[in-house]
Amino acid sequence: MNKNELLRRLPKIDEILKEESLVVLSAEKGSLLVTEAVRQVISNMRRSILDLEDGDMEKLSEAEKAGEKASAALEGFFRQFEPSAVAAAAAAKLAEDEEYNLYPVVNATGTILHTNLGRAPLCEDAVENVSRVSRGYSDLEYNVAKGARGSRHDLVGSLIAELTGAEDAMVVNNNASATMIVLAAMGEGREIIVSRGELVEIGGAFRIPDIMAQSGAYLTEVGTSNKTKVSDYEKAIMTPEMVASESWKKDPRGTRRFETGALMKVHKSNYDIVGFTEEAELEDLVALGRKHDLPVIFDMGNGLMLDMSAYGLREPNIPASLATGIDVMLFSGDKLLGGPQAGIIVGKKKYISMMKKHPLARAMRVDKMTFAALEATLAKYKDPAIALRDIPVLSMIAGSSEDMKAKAGRLAETIRKTAPGLTLELAEVEDQIGGGSAPMVRLPGWAVSVADGSRSADSIERRLRKADVPVIARIHDDRLLLCVRTIFEEEFGLVAEALRQ
Ligand SMILES: *Cc1c(COP(=O)(O)O)cnc(C)c1O
Repeated sequence: MNKNELLRRLPKIDEILKEESLVVLSAEKGSLLVTEAVRQVISNMRRSILDLEDGDMEKLSEAEKAGEKASAALEGFFRQFEPSAVAAAAAAKLAEDEEYNLYPVVNATGTILHTNLGRAPLCEDAVENVSRVSRGYSDLEYNVAKGARGSRHDLVGSLIAELTGAEDAMVVNNNASATMIVLAAMGEGREIIVSRGELVEIGGAFRIPDIMAQSGAYLTEVGTSNKTKVSDYEKAIMTPEMVASESWKKDPRGTRRFETGALMKVHKSNYDIVGFTEEAELEDLVALGRKHDLPVIFDMGNGLMLDMSAYGLREPNIPASLATGIDVMLFSGDKLLGGPQAGIIVGKKKYISMMKKHPLARAMRVDKMTFAALEATLAKYKDPAIALRDIPVLSMIAGSSEDMKAKAGRLAETIRKTAPGLTLELAEVEDQIGGGSAPMVRLPGWAVSVADGSRSADSIERRLRKADVPVIARIHDDRLLLCVRTIFEEEFGLVAEALRQ
């Protein structure tokens, strides 16, 4: 037997396509994709034949000579040449190619807003609304009552106003875009005063000084790393008269100065400064802004809508911050608000309309799917009790240690049934908010700790990531932990199955 003979035994593509399974598959997926999959399987087989070593060829020849009875191995070898086997391989290849690169995973880390895992999971109504609105056409920019063009900015504006007390609102792609457009619209060619203790880096390339430079506004840093007083902001204000008198020229190191455009406060989302510290409160900055007729901007970041201090979360919330009289405030949609990725700008109508008219608005506008998810999420906040119950991020934060212990017990029970033989223990853990929010908050939680004989925690962790639905677990003190706060009850079966696999 030689390689040419083997190549001749490969079935013809037309013949394979007549296989019942592929006829059905062609009707469903289209014949182009199916034919291509068959072609690739055959081409792979051809390559493997050409790659066979001399030793392999000898073995095949010997098996052939040994006659029918001794050639079980040979039979096995030629089974892959049968049209039905090639058809099955092609179907498997199609299924493999069809897997998307973005797919669900189980978050067993206990970190609620995990930026790597997509931040906030959406509430059920938000998901349904996305599907309802995006399957067909929608009134995204059409005023149905008037039969005329509408504006996408109006879709959630009044709902946000009702919930927060803001005069107006605008939605952009994320809070980084929101910062950019606010600074560009209110500060281009002017100075914006920010405390040295608040020049945050959020991660990725988001740094306040860099965004400021991109927006065309000039950053004026005031105070020190640990202390910034209201008087520091006041001393840094440049009036048009001061600019006209070119007073900066008197300072030997003097760089050119510009008129002050706004005072800005940035929430220390992902760090804290402790010890000998002082910062200007929103109220004080608002008073200073009024005195000098300057708008005050607050980048609050996390988008917390409710007072959650009862759950250990002492963070500013949107309505309370707005009530200080702040002119413009911005936050993310997918952090503590618990909605889709978005940047939400709220505040005085006068400023919000400047942003709506800004050329960047078009570059940062969001899609109907975002509006659909955002409106359904926001609607939950009409009743705080409903928001706490239905918005996953909030209900996860609200879960008590006792709730988590009971939940861990239920997960352990499910695992025991599906994957007996593993050593399971309930363990106390400290969960986190994550996503660059409330860095000092630790939520007392519970986990199921899993051990399997002498296998290391690292090895179990790796295997769990390779399951059909990957489970992202935590390792602490060489123990593999499944932190239940971030695992949905409906996912318990998946976790157990991943452990069984
Ligand atoms: C998170 C955050 C941002 C960036 O928001 P994205 O939605 O990630 O773009 C900006 N500023 C503050 C204070 C933040 O907390």
